[in-house]
Amino acid sequence: MTQSQSVKYIGAHVSAAGGVENAPVRAQEIGANAFALFTKNQRQWKAKPLEVESISLFKQRCKELGFSSEQILPHDSYLINLGAPDPEKLEKSRAAFIDEMERCELLGLTLLNFHPGSHLKQCSEEECLATIAESINLAHKAVPNVIAVIENTAGQGTNLGWRFEHLASIIEQVEDKSRVGICIDTCHTFAAGYDLRTQDAFNQTFEEFDRIVGMHYLRAMHINDSKVELGKRVDRHHSLGEGHIGWDCFKYIAQDRRFDGIPLILETIEPEIWHNEIQQLRAYHANLLA
Ligand SMILES: [Zn+2]
Ligand SMILES: [Zn+2]
Repeated sequence: MTQSQSVKYIGAHVSAAGGVENAPVRAQEIGANAFALFTKNQRQWKAKPLEVESISLFKQRCKELGFSSEQILPHDSYLINLGAPDPEKLEKSRAAFIDEMERCELLGLTLLNFHPGSHLKQCSEEECLATIAESINLAHKAVPNVIAVIENTAGQGTNLGWRFEHLASIIEQVEDKSRVGICIDTCHTFAAGYDLRTQDAFNQTFEEFDRIVGMHYLRAMHINDSKVELGKRVDRHHSLGEGHIGWDCFKYIAQDRRFDGIPLILETIEPEIWHNEIQQLRAYHANLLA
C-alpha cells in the first residue's frame, strides 16, 4: 500500500434531533467524514417507525455529502440489555434490538453499535455472555445485512465486555462471524485497565486485543479521553488531551494504518470543539503522509 492510500474516517456522534436526515448535515458542518447517530430516542423503548420522507432525505444527503455506510455508525438505545437474566426484560431487549437493526437496514446502514449487556448479579458472567451471543444470533436471523458491532465497556457496575476475553467469548458463540465486529472505545479501554498513554503501552494493548479477539474484527472506534484514571472501571468521557489518556494516544491512532477505513467517532464532552478535535486528528494523519 502506498502512503497516499491511508484513509481516515473521522467524525462525532451528532444529534439526530428533528429527524435522522439532519445528522449528515450536522456531521458535515463540523468537518467530519464519518458520524454516529441514534436512529430513535435512546432513552425510550418505543419509537414511531421512520417516515418514508425521512429515509429518502437521509439517503440523499448521505450521498450528496459523501457518507457511505462504512462511514456511519448508528448506536442503539441505552435501555437494551441483550444479556438480561430476567426472561421478560430479555425478550423486550431482543425485540428492541431487532427493531434497531431494521431501522438501520431501512436507512441503508450496515453497522449497529451496542453495549454488550449486564448480568445484574443475577447470573454468571458465562451465562450472560452466552445470552448476549444468542441475542446476536436471533437478530442475525431476523435482519439480513446489518453487522452487530459490540462496544468494549469500562466495566462499570455489572456491565460485561470490559475484558477482551468477554468480547472473544461472545464472538466465539456467534454463528455468522461475518456479521459481528468490535468497536473499541479508548476511554472504556483505559478505564478497564488497558494502558494507551505511551507508544509501548498502546502497542501492547492492541497486541493483546489482536491475540485474544483479532484485529480483523475491529469495525469502528470511539475516540474519547477519560476523566478517570487507569483501571477505575468508571465511564466518564473527556475532551481529547484534557483527561488521563492524553493526546499521544490519539496521535498514534491517527498515524496507525490499522485504524484506516473504519469510523473513528468522537463522543467527547464539548461538541463546540469537535471541529477542532477533528482538525487536530487530521493534522496528525497528514504528518504520516508528509
Ligand atoms: Zn463509546
Ligand atoms: Zn462511554
